[in-house]
Amino acid sequence: MLYEIFLAIYLPTITFVVFVLLFGPNEKFRDGFLGDAHEFITSTLWTKLRNLITRVCGESAGKGLGSIGDYLFYSRNPLILIFYLAILFGGMAVFFLYVWPHLEETPTLHPIHLVLIPLCLLFVFSTFLASALTDPGKVTKGNLDRYLKLYPYDYQLFYPYECYTCKFAKPARSKHCRILKCCIAKYDHYCAWLMNSIGEKNYRWFLLYLYSNFLMCVYGTWIIYKILEHQVDASGMFTNTYYDQAGNVVQIGYPYMIRWLLEYFRIPIGLSMMTFLMSIVVFCFICYHLYLISKNITTNESSKFSVLKYYITQKKLEIDNYQKALQSVNQSKNVPKKRSNKKKSSKKKQNQKKKLKNYQKNRNELKKLKKPIITPMDKIVLKLDPENLKSFYNKGFWTNLKQVFFPISIYGTE
Ligand SMILES: [Zn+2]
Repeated sequence: MLYEIFLAIYLPTITFVVFVLLFGPNEKFRDGFLGDAHEFITSTLWTKLRNLITRVCGESAGKGLGSIGDYLFYSRNPLILIFYLAILFGGMAVFFLYVWPHLEETPTLHPIHLVLIPLCLLFVFSTFLASALTDPGKVTKGNLDRYLKLYPYDYQLFYPYECYTCKFAKPARSKHCRILKCCIAKYDHYCAWLMNSIGEKNYRWFLLYLYSNFLMCVYGTWIIYKILEHQVDASGMFTNTYYDQAGNVVQIGYPYMIRWLLEYFRIPIGLSMMTFLMSIVVFCFICYHLYLISKNITTNESSKFSVLKYYITQKKLEIDNYQKALQSVNQSKNVPKKRSNKKKSSKKKQNQKKKLKNYQKNRNELKKLKKPIITPMDKIVLKLDPENLKSFYNKGFWTNLKQVFFPISIYGTE
């Protein structure tokens, strides 16, 4: 029964939570279901729980839970890293206990896999350590000049100004990471799975880390599939002949095969389902990062672009509305002056009154709208087309990719 619960509830839930944690904060999904689910897991759930605990156990217990939530999602803590390592080591333990012993008895698997599997795991561990432990590109007073020369300011997302916290110039494409408490060159995002920020210098290790995890999941799924395929063949269930009580020949069907496999290989099947689902999640995440590389945009810049797009659209709308209101006032201003024309018909008088009323109405509407303030920065960004914002740094996919694997701060531009 526990196994059925694992397959039906635990596995899809874990996959869903991982998917939401990875994609929820993304600007493409933020306003949709994934964004709402992320908001629920990282914020709403905690607020509701906190309110409940405060009502039941008192103010201090509620505050305690609130600080647990802050610790979990807004500080540098090892919990998500522990969650990842628990899945990784748990999966490896299950693999070596329940899958590895079948490798040698599976003739369809070449003995080379006995070497390739440990190599694949070594690949995962080395990329994990490289992305978690190497410098993401911390900007210090000592290397500031080098980072300032790395990229020019694009005057759409990046302007020359000082970091409020570090108190020195902020290089283009950098961001102050509030978790690591320093500016990071070509900042991508803070990765709770690695407990490190991802920036100019370790983005390459991060991509390889994603790739190694994807490879491990696909490879694991395939190995288990080959083993199960061989077990089914070796059982002879499809080649032997079976008779029912009336003496008729009965063919063994797939439902029986599945029941049989679940009876004898339930743990490898559970593991393969997990590796299969995770490979889909990681594959989507790799595709997203390849898309960002094709545009030479970091995750941080992608979210900044969506904020900028919203800002320009709103500002343009504000200016447009104000100008329309001003135009209406100017047009209705030309109310005919009162002439001492006694013969003026009452219809004309009525018309004039109507026009005056209209003019006053337009003036009141204009008063309601504040005159838009246009800062020098607005003058620059308002020239941009919000529907067609592009990265200033895009040099084409292959050059962008080369810059990821050979960071300019280490290897230079050539
Ligand atoms: Zn800073």
